[in-house]
Amino acid sequence: MSTRHSPKQVLDALLAANRRFAEGQARHPRQSPRRRAELAQGQTPRATVIGCADSRVPPELIFDQGLGDLFVVRVAGNVVDEAVVGSVEYAVTALETGLVIVLGHADCGAVKVALEGRRHHRFVSFSLSSIATAIQPAVDRARLEANGDSARVMELAVRYNALIMAQRLTERSSILQTLVRTGQVLIVPAVYVLETGLVEPIDQG
Ligand SMILES: [Zn+2]
Repeated sequence: MSTRHSPKQVLDALLAANRRFAEGQARHPRQSPRRRAELAQGQTPRATVIGCADSRVPPELIFDQGLGDLFVVRVAGNVVDEAVVGSVEYAVTALETGLVIVLGHADCGAVKVALEGRRHHRFVSFSLSSIATAIQPAVDRARLEANGDSARVMELAVRYNALIMAQRLTERSSILQTLVRTGQVLIVPAVYVLETGLVEPIDQG
């Protein structure tokens, strides 16, 4: 891992590329047939992104990356379950991606479902409600803090959801816990703002 860029350097590079995308200056790098052919020999992605399935938040586009650059796990509400933990463990051990971004986003439908609760979604399936259940701790925390301001509740719930899912990665994986402690892996919760196109890391201090 030592020959590669540090997780912090990769984060800075991705945030710079995101600003390019936000300003309409995306370069769409590394998407040529040549790059595709090179990658047939194997992948060395520079970062892992856990993002929402929402069609407006494709990590490769918003970070202006190409083929083979990002190891992406997408699931509604960027919910971290066993399959997601396992996917990230694979990325950091087999592919040695030191940076893991947990990317929530404004106006997230999964967070809305969790906020509105069962009374608005009477015909919800067990599978869908399992996503809402996973997001519930973020919603509860947001409600406590927002004092009845509904726009603020939504904003905070998105934020806390990214934060809690990032924490869940180390809570549920001793491999990730160790790699984070030794500084080999950096896990960064962040929120994508639809209007600006900017990714804003969440301060965990
Ligand atoms: Zn979403």
